[in-house]
Amino acid sequence: MQFKVFDAMYEEYLSNTNFTEFSKYSKFVEAVQSLSQANVAFGAGIEAVITEAIVSTFDPITKQPMVDPVKGAKCGHTYERSSIIELIKRKPKGTRCPYVGCHEKLTLRDLQDDEQMKLYLSQQRK
Ligand SMILES: [Zn+2]
Repeated sequence: MQFKVFDAMYEEYLSNTNFTEFSKYSKFVEAVQSLSQANVAFGAGIEAVITEAIVSTFDPITKQPMVDPVKGAKCGHTYERSSIIELIKRKPKGTRCPYVGCHEKLTLRDLQDDEQMKLYLSQQRK
Protein backbone atom coordinates (compact mmCIF):
# COMPACT_ATOMS: atom_id res chain seq x y z
CA MET A 1 0.00 0.00 0.00
CA GLN A 2 2.74 2.36 0.98
CA PHE A 3 4.54 1.59 -2.26
CA LYS A 4 1.58 2.69 -4.36
CA VAL A 5 1.76 6.16 -2.86
CA PHE A 6 5.47 6.15 -3.42
CA ASP A 7 5.14 5.24 -7.07
CA ALA A 8 2.78 8.13 -7.71
CA MET A 9 5.05 10.58 -5.91
CA TYR A 10 8.10 9.24 -7.65
CA GLU A 11 6.45 9.60 -11.06
CA GLU A 12 5.47 13.17 -10.27
CA TYR A 13 8.94 13.81 -8.99
CA LEU A 14 10.55 12.54 -12.19
CA SER A 15 8.23 14.54 -14.41
CA ASN A 16 8.89 17.74 -12.50
CA THR A 17 11.74 19.51 -14.21
CA ASN A 18 11.44 22.62 -12.07
CA PHE A 19 13.65 21.85 -9.12
CA THR A 20 12.85 25.07 -7.37
CA GLU A 21 9.81 23.17 -6.24
CA PHE A 22 12.04 20.64 -4.63
CA SER A 23 10.99 21.51 -1.10
CA LYS A 24 7.65 20.00 -1.99
CA TYR A 25 9.40 16.66 -1.89
CA SER A 26 11.03 17.00 1.49
CA LYS A 27 8.40 14.67 2.96
CA PHE A 28 9.17 12.23 0.19
CA VAL A 29 12.89 12.43 0.92
CA GLU A 30 12.22 11.84 4.61
CA ALA A 31 10.10 8.84 3.78
CA VAL A 32 12.77 7.45 1.49
CA GLN A 33 15.38 7.89 4.16
CA SER A 34 13.39 5.96 6.73
CA LEU A 35 12.56 3.36 4.12
CA SER A 36 16.16 2.98 3.07
CA GLN A 37 16.99 1.82 6.56
CA ALA A 38 14.47 -0.98 6.14
CA ASN A 39 15.29 -1.72 2.53
CA VAL A 40 18.76 -0.57 1.58
CA ALA A 41 18.66 -1.61 -2.08
CA PHE A 42 15.43 0.21 -2.88
CA GLY A 43 16.35 3.26 -0.85
CA ALA A 44 19.80 3.55 -2.32
CA GLY A 45 18.37 3.65 -5.84
CA ILE A 46 15.98 6.46 -5.14
CA GLU A 47 18.49 8.38 -3.06
CA ALA A 48 20.80 8.44 -6.05
CA VAL A 49 18.03 10.05 -8.09
CA ILE A 50 17.36 12.60 -5.36
CA THR A 51 21.04 13.45 -5.03
CA GLU A 52 21.12 14.03 -8.75
CA ALA A 53 18.08 16.31 -8.55
CA ILE A 54 19.63 18.42 -5.78
CA VAL A 55 22.46 19.17 -8.18
CA SER A 56 21.15 22.34 -9.73
CA THR A 57 20.64 22.54 -13.47
CA PHE A 58 20.72 26.33 -13.17
CA ASP A 59 23.77 28.42 -13.87
CA PRO A 60 24.90 30.02 -10.58
CA ILE A 61 25.89 33.23 -12.38
CA THR A 62 22.90 34.02 -14.58
CA LYS A 63 20.38 31.84 -12.63
CA GLN A 64 19.22 30.56 -16.01
CA PRO A 65 18.94 26.88 -16.94
CA MET A 66 22.25 25.63 -18.28
CA VAL A 67 22.57 24.66 -21.93
CA ASP A 68 26.30 24.13 -22.38
CA PRO A 69 27.62 23.10 -18.96
CA VAL A 70 31.30 23.08 -18.01
CA LYS A 71 32.79 22.26 -14.63
CA GLY A 72 35.72 23.49 -12.62
CA ALA A 73 38.43 20.83 -12.62
CA LYS A 74 39.37 21.52 -8.98
CA CYS A 75 36.02 21.77 -7.22
CA GLY A 76 33.71 20.05 -9.70
CA HIS A 77 31.12 22.82 -9.69
CA THR A 78 29.14 23.32 -12.89
CA TYR A 79 28.42 26.55 -14.75
CA GLU A 80 27.14 27.69 -18.11
CA ARG A 81 30.13 27.95 -20.44
CA SER A 82 29.46 31.47 -21.72
CA SER A 83 28.86 33.02 -18.30
CA ILE A 84 31.88 31.50 -16.54
CA ILE A 85 34.14 32.45 -19.46
CA GLU A 86 32.80 35.99 -19.20
CA LEU A 87 33.72 36.07 -15.49
CA ILE A 88 37.21 34.71 -16.11
CA LYS A 89 37.84 37.21 -18.90
CA ARG A 90 37.33 39.98 -16.36
CA LYS A 91 39.91 38.40 -14.04
CA PRO A 92 42.49 36.65 -16.21
CA LYS A 93 44.51 35.54 -13.19
CA GLY A 94 41.54 33.54 -12.00
CA THR A 95 38.11 34.28 -10.67
CA ARG A 96 36.69 32.76 -7.53
CA CYS A 97 34.23 29.92 -8.12
CA PRO A 98 30.78 31.58 -8.05
CA TYR A 99 29.31 28.90 -5.80
CA VAL A 100 28.61 30.17 -2.31
CA GLY A 101 31.21 28.85 0.10
CA CYS A 102 33.57 27.64 -2.61
CA HIS A 103 36.94 29.38 -2.68
CA GLU A 104 38.61 27.66 -5.62
CA LYS A 105 40.17 29.90 -8.22
CA LEU A 106 39.16 29.28 -11.78
CA THR A 107 41.02 29.97 -14.98
CA LEU A 108 40.09 28.95 -18.51
CA ARG A 109 42.35 25.93 -18.19
CA ASP A 110 40.30 24.65 -15.26
CA LEU A 111 37.14 24.33 -17.31
CA GLN A 112 36.11 20.93 -18.58
CA ASP A 113 33.01 19.81 -20.44
CA ASP A 114 30.53 18.48 -17.92
CA GLU A 115 29.45 15.41 -19.86
CA GLN A 116 27.33 14.09 -17.01
CA MET A 117 25.34 17.30 -16.77
CA LYS A 118 25.02 17.48 -20.54
CA LEU A 119 23.53 14.01 -20.60
CA TYR A 120 21.26 14.87 -17.71
CA LEU A 121 20.04 18.05 -19.40
CA SER A 122 19.35 16.26 -22.66
CA GLN A 123 17.28 13.69 -20.77
CA GLN A 124 15.36 16.50 -19.10
CA ARG A 125 14.42 17.98 -22.45
CA LYS A 126 12.73 14.79 -23.69
ZN1 LIG B 1 33.51 25.58 -6.80
